[in-house]
Amino acid sequence: MNLPTRLAEIARVSPGQEAIVFKNQRLTYTQLDTRVSQLASGLKQLGIKTGDRVLLAMRNCPEYVIAYYAIMRMKGIVVPVNPHYTINEMGVIIKDCQPAAVITCPEKQELFEKISRTIKIPAGIIVNSCDPEKEDIFTYEQINKKGTAAFQEVKYSHEDVAEIMYTAGQAGKPKGAMLTSYNLYSNALTFAQVCSLSPADRALLTAPVYHAAAQTCVMNGTIVSGGTLVIQEGWRGAEEVLKEIAEEKITFFFGTPTMYSLLLKYPELDKCNVKSLRIALCGGASLPPGLYESMISKLGISLVEGYGLTETSPVVTINFIGESGKRGSVGKPIPGVEVKIFDYEDREVPKGQVGEIVVRGPNVMKGYLNLEEETRWLMRNDWFHTGDLAYEDNDGYIYIVDRKKDLIIRGGLNINPREIEEVLYDHPGIFEVAVVGVPDAVMGEEILAYIMPREGHEMTEAELKTFCKDKMAKYKIPRYFRFVDNLPKTSSGKLMRKELQSWMAKQKPPV
Ligand code: AMP
Repeated sequence: MNLPTRLAEIARVSPGQEAIVFKNQRLTYTQLDTRVSQLASGLKQLGIKTGDRVLLAMRNCPEYVIAYYAIMRMKGIVVPVNPHYTINEMGVIIKDCQPAAVITCPEKQELFEKISRTIKIPAGIIVNSCDPEKEDIFTYEQINKKGTAAFQEVKYSHEDVAEIMYTAGQAGKPKGAMLTSYNLYSNALTFAQVCSLSPADRALLTAPVYHAAAQTCVMNGTIVSGGTLVIQEGWRGAEEVLKEIAEEKITFFFGTPTMYSLLLKYPELDKCNVKSLRIALCGGASLPPGLYESMISKLGISLVEGYGLTETSPVVTINFIGESGKRGSVGKPIPGVEVKIFDYEDREVPKGQVGEIVVRGPNVMKGYLNLEEETRWLMRNDWFHTGDLAYEDNDGYIYIVDRKKDLIIRGGLNINPREIEEVLYDHPGIFEVAVVGVPDAVMGEEILAYIMPREGHEMTEAELKTFCKDKMAKYKIPRYFRFVDNLPKTSSGKLMRKELQSWMAKQKPPV
């Protein structure tokens, strides 16, 4: 069994069950399954072969779900990316994974056309819902017409890579986590079982589906359970989410801590009816103090916290805080997944002692694309080393205390500070730069860039923000800039990021 075969099975057993709701559009499982087969067969006729990579750069929409399952049905490899990436960011990923085709939306067509002038995309660019008459550009509808609904899916072995998911990597380059067909299917199924998802559940997909949690827990978790997926293009404000929960009788919602904080700020919260919600899953970043209590007092909802990473498909632990769980913990590993806490020499530490979380199980990726050495290092001794620091209590509950890796998590999205530093180093007036995350009540962390200008150069914050604008996606542009004369370094010249953060904590916010 894998994701597309499971979809076909549900369509066989419950043909008329509602699978997708999007604006005025409603698709049953039979309609979804037919459209997946049609697109899979169309993609094949376009020349895409087994094992070819297909980049998926779209906002949340039914076509996203169809394309994702269609690529897997023909045994291609899905490469989901943030559609808001700039041409540079997209170019780095395309160079790394060499996709045979791109499926995108009309707003991004020009960007991919530009990229395809220097990097060949052999089967072309497929644009969802527009009608360009250019060579190599196919509309989604054209591909669908080429296809036939009688497409037979190709068999997968457990080890076959079905998806390459990019995550913030070292040295400014994103890393492509290769997830197998079994990684994805087993994690979605186990998550669904742990949360008792069923055909009666109605999930709201608001978080971006190119992110692991929204994809596995909401999209795939709902589909493997035969439930209904109600799709929103993305975050369009608290009012839209609360309205949809009430109107569509949503039972399952996933949000980052930032999303929940924003829901709680909605001025007419007391008039909202969210009684249908059974599971409010929160993950992607640590739960800020007070958020859990405010959700209960203001909305009567008990959050379920999940912890995981792109590399672990992503779910590792779950904490049903209001039922069997414990406050402050990310819970216990889900069935089939093992977690240990290791010291720097990869020895298990005693209970209560802080060390690095390591993970083993059917959810752990095969490795990073084109990064054999880094893969070997992070997967040494058969355990995936997460870079998250935590301790385990006597009852097996895990408590995250810090991160070993240089990562900023803003609003649930991972940002590699070095990627931003590399862009800023291209500015002629900058001698040295250090980027760190600083605490923020709503976003979890905000980005702060320390700038050491070259002698004789002066620059303003506004100038630097404009400089960053077309070189990185908006969410990565530092909120704060601080101009300094030197930066704290170790004796070997390594930047002391922790020092910079704690120094910052003692200062007033640099507004
Ligand atoms: P990503 O690969 O984007 O899913 O990000 C994974 C990282 O997010 C983890 O390594 C953690 O640092 C962080 N993270 C995810 N869930 C939680 C959580 N519940 N509490 C604290 N940190 C989390």
